[in-house]
Amino acid sequence: MLLPSVLCLSGFDPSGGAGMQADIEACAANGAHTLGVVTALTAQNTRNVFAIEPVGVEFMRRQLDALLEDCRPAAVKIGLIGSAAQLPVILDVISELGVPVVCDPVLRASGGATLLTPDIAVQLVADLFPHASLVTPNAAEARQLAPGSPTLRAAAQALCNHGCAAALVTGGDEQGGEAEDILYTRQGNYRTWRSTRIAGGFHGAGCTLSSAIAARLAQGDALEVAIEHARKYVHTALATAFSVGRGRAIPRRRA
Ligand code: PLP
Repeated sequence: MLLPSVLCLSGFDPSGGAGMQADIEACAANGAHTLGVVTALTAQNTRNVFAIEPVGVEFMRRQLDALLEDCRPAAVKIGLIGSAAQLPVILDVISELGVPVVCDPVLRASGGATLLTPDIAVQLVADLFPHASLVTPNAAEARQLAPGSPTLRAAAQALCNHGCAAALVTGGDEQGGEAEDILYTRQGNYRTWRSTRIAGGFHGAGCTLSSAIAARLAQGDALEVAIEHARKYVHTALATAFSVGRGRAIPRRRA
């Protein structure tokens, strides 16, 4: 039996809240296997990120060569980028695979640490966004990547203008009683999902959502169906989140 696989390119978070562990758990809970290529090691806990150690680009390429000579992922999820030098390698892989690509532009940790320098963020948008089926910035990331946009709807559209097929701006980290996620597609359509905001701060919610969407796309779901399923899954994972330290809670991604 062949299980659909998602190629996840992500950082490793030893606290297990975000990054590759979030991807593996969210993909598994949504019916897909993770082929995991770590882009960077991090020193972090549930409060913040303190250091990032990128994986060497040649070693990353060797991991990808070994994997893709053998396995055929049905979707790709891109999370934290370790260095600018990794971008051309990632670009080669996604161009060759020709499967749905979910790109979560990880710029800043909810603890406040910068995870991607502004120059690499600009390169990410210019080089990878044109190949993405979906980009999933949170509201703060969308504002940073689409400066001057008067609203989050306008930011979603501005991001789409960089060439991705769709942009989902998530509002879980904003204020207010309701969390609103806004989808804009290249065809010019907007769609909004609202849900009751779950109180408390979470570590790894964005990684969980983007991986769950990628897992659904890997199984052939249409984009909006995949988002719909993934949002429900994340809502439950946040409502039942648990603590492992003194910082933010970790979404309960598995039963
Ligand atoms: N560490 C890694 C490797 C990540 O990919 C991310 C977010 O995507 C974070 C840390 C920060 O996660 P959060 O902002 O949910 O705490």
